[in-house]
Amino acid sequence: MSDVFDSPIARQIAELNAKKKTLKKKSAPRPGKTRVLAVSNQKGGVGKTTTTVNLAAALATFGLRVLVIDLDPQGNASTALNIDHRGDAIGSYEVLLEDIPLSEVIQPCTEVPNLFCSPATLNLAGTDVELVPLENRETRLRSALESFLDEQETAGKRFDYIFIDCPPALGLLTVNALVAATEVLIPIQSEYYALEGITQLRDTIEQMRGYLNPDLVVSTILLTMYDRRTNLSREVAESVREFFPKETLDTEIPRSVRVSEAPSFSQTVISYDPEGVGAVAYKEAALEIAQRGAAKNGH
Ligand code: ATP
Ligand code: MG
Repeated sequence: MSDVFDSPIARQIAELNAKKKTLKKKSAPRPGKTRVLAVSNQKGGVGKTTTTVNLAAALATFGLRVLVIDLDPQGNASTALNIDHRGDAIGSYEVLLEDIPLSEVIQPCTEVPNLFCSPATLNLAGTDVELVPLENRETRLRSALESFLDEQETAGKRFDYIFIDCPPALGLLTVNALVAATEVLIPIQSEYYALEGITQLRDTIEQMRGYLNPDLVVSTILLTMYDRRTNLSREVAESVREFFPKETLDTEIPRSVRVSEAPSFSQTVISYDPEGVGAVAYKEAALEIAQRGAAKNGH
């Protein structure tokens, strides 16, 4: 019997239960002003979209008002949030290219109160090229977002968090996100070549700081798809923490089948499997982000 109670599985269950108990007592502080996070890494498949939708849903579940701007033509964030982005739907494309206000394209997420999304429709695929000849091509999202935030604040409906899900490229869509944002969140997959491309992303961020967005900071690094049983995951985590000692969250997101299957049910893992390891980890990461922000602003 002692084997059963002392097994790794039993220990993991006990750990998860303890985490859930602690989480129940926690609340996320409201930021002093809206925090705008671009979730970016030009490497594909590292968990940008999964991180965007689950952190957004976690913070909304804590009672904060959250908007996801889907800026990836793949529209995966829109799918996970069950937001209509086919047919006649309008979204981030119209905001960027046709000067349609954000307030006219956002839709509430039916599964999660306080959570809204500006969908990515198929026409967003041409945006990188269509933006090139336009005036203010790098600042279009920032202008739209500034007007939107002012309007919401005046109406007494201030947003606490805006997450921008970027495509896996450093083209004009990502540039628009980096110019509109105040912070960058980089998800890093706990796999071989995890840090590959990060220097290039940092150079792009540096360029934005030098020219259009001097206050932009890489505030948050999140390790995704972490497998604590493997040496590889541990080694990657170690080198990421060496490279980004202040920015890397203590919480790692474990690899979990529930996390990957939630979007096929048009859900985030926060509503699909609220008691599972994935939801618990994303809630813990969301709290860390909220608390670190509050500590920085002296709240
Ligand atoms: P892209 O660059 O194509 O936009 P991405 O960086 O947004 O990709 P995701 O789509 O979030 O990455 O994740 C890539 C794949 O990994 C998806 O199939 C997703 O379901 C899966 N995945 C992400 N996080 C986890 C996790 N913690 N556990 C298991 N699978 C995961
Ligand atoms: Mg994605």
